[in-house]
Amino acid sequence: MTLDQKYPLHFTNSLSGKKEKFEPIHPGFVGMYVCGPTVYNFVHLGNTRTFLTFDTVSRYFRFLGYKVRYVRNITDVGHLVNDADEGEDKIAKKARMEQLEPMEVVKQYTEDFHSVMRVFNILPPSIEPSATGHIIEQINITNKLIELGLAYEVNGSVYFDVKKYNQQNNNSYGILSGRNIDELMESGRELDSQSEKRDKRDFALWKKALPAHIMRWPSPWGDGFPGWHIECTVMSTKYLGETFDIHGGGLDLKFPHHECEIAQATGANGKSPVNYWIHSNMLTVNGQKMSKSLGNSFLPSELFTGNHPLLEKGYTPMTVRFFMLQSHYSSTLDFSNEALNAAEKGYKKLSAALTIIKQADPTGTGAPDAELSSGLHHLAEQCYQNMSDDFNTAKTLAVLFEMASRINDIKSGNLVVSRIDKETFDFFKKTYVGFMEDVLGLREETSHNHELLDGTIQVLIELRKKAKTDKNFALSDKIRDDLKAIGVQLKDNKDGSIDYTVE
Ligand code: AMP
Ligand code: ZN
Repeated sequence: MTLDQKYPLHFTNSLSGKKEKFEPIHPGFVGMYVCGPTVYNFVHLGNTRTFLTFDTVSRYFRFLGYKVRYVRNITDVGHLVNDADEGEDKIAKKARMEQLEPMEVVKQYTEDFHSVMRVFNILPPSIEPSATGHIIEQINITNKLIELGLAYEVNGSVYFDVKKYNQQNNNSYGILSGRNIDELMESGRELDSQSEKRDKRDFALWKKALPAHIMRWPSPWGDGFPGWHIECTVMSTKYLGETFDIHGGGLDLKFPHHECEIAQATGANGKSPVNYWIHSNMLTVNGQKMSKSLGNSFLPSELFTGNHPLLEKGYTPMTVRFFMLQSHYSSTLDFSNEALNAAEKGYKKLSAALTIIKQADPTGTGAPDAELSSGLHHLAEQCYQNMSDDFNTAKTLAVLFEMASRINDIKSGNLVVSRIDKETFDFFKKTYVGFMEDVLGLREETSHNHELLDGTIQVLIELRKKAKTDKNFALSDKIRDDLKAIGVQLKDNKDGSIDYTVE
């Protein structure tokens, strides 16, 4: 019996709003697409929560024995300010402000994104396609939608015709977000007099590039750039098929981004693109969504150094990972120093038990106790049961705490290993180590090492400052570059202070 048969996986499908049993399209395989970052700025801790959620999801599938193809894109064109259909491209705007080429902006923030993912032990996806690498496919599908009568061109831009789609598809626009079409008509913004759209629900598949627009590609409709929603339709179906297992993303993307993805793909391919949708909830600060535009976001590097007005002190990456795993992905998670302090203690306890169990010697004298063994077996099994019940990391951690207490009993001599039958001991150990490291991604991280590393880097930062003051730029650059080569990235702040991130 496979692990998946033993502990059948159920999770909430946002499309039905219900918990459903997972039935993969191809037995033993999972295809999952997750909307990646728009790389125009440093990723903040809120973004990190979403990617951590799907990291845990893909880790658990692998742990159960599935072969996972996880596609997470990089949005490097088409995402306009305010997530709208009019206005400047987020990346082009940043490039203009910093007098850089758009692809320099993309490179810089993609690297930052990758280093943040590494620090949090968020594993890379199987494929990481970028929107600019799929312009031809986006033009092709736009053409197809025009041919099918589901899109129309106006003055070099192409829009998806929501009304037409609804006529052909049983009024299904709104199927994911639960918004009904009349409500959308009532609540949507009025079309301004210059709008080219026939209907205010319509959305852009392709936009004409004005002369000043730097990110542009030739198309059958003249120079332009793709809309934001079409990139995900193209990249998900290209690598996972016209219908695939799972599509994930932050809850804030459910409407309009994911709703539009369903409409485009269904319109173009005549079938629903995704069997299961998973939406992870927001990281909040004092109840408000953490976001760059609200000014309540902070960077992972600020979190590690404690260099931010909202922070009492610095926290290690694994403490933060633990903090995020303590809540269910579908609930909001509010940031607070108290919660992080508690997470720091909790993580240390679990981590210490990890070290003990790895070293525990199962040999010894004495007969195994059947009742004791069976109790421990049932306890360990609850890790599988909780994760298979909507990826409940919070309940899984609670079980790991109970297991850690038993492990501490082994250390103190209150529990003699030889009283546990060999099979149970092996299962208990494999479960504890496997759920800590492989499923929850909580690797060992001793505070001693962290303090030592932090202290050493601070010394080098001071030396670099001194070299700069002495106008010894060769030395200051060498310190920066050598640190970078071993995965420590220095960041000069405007006020003269220096932060760092560790890969
Ligand atoms: P963006 O780079 O703005 O396209 O966002 C990247 C991802 O981060 C998306 O999946 C968003 O849903 C997610 N995200 C943005 N803000 C938060 C937040 N405060 N909490 C959780 N996820 C977020
Ligand atoms: Zn997307």
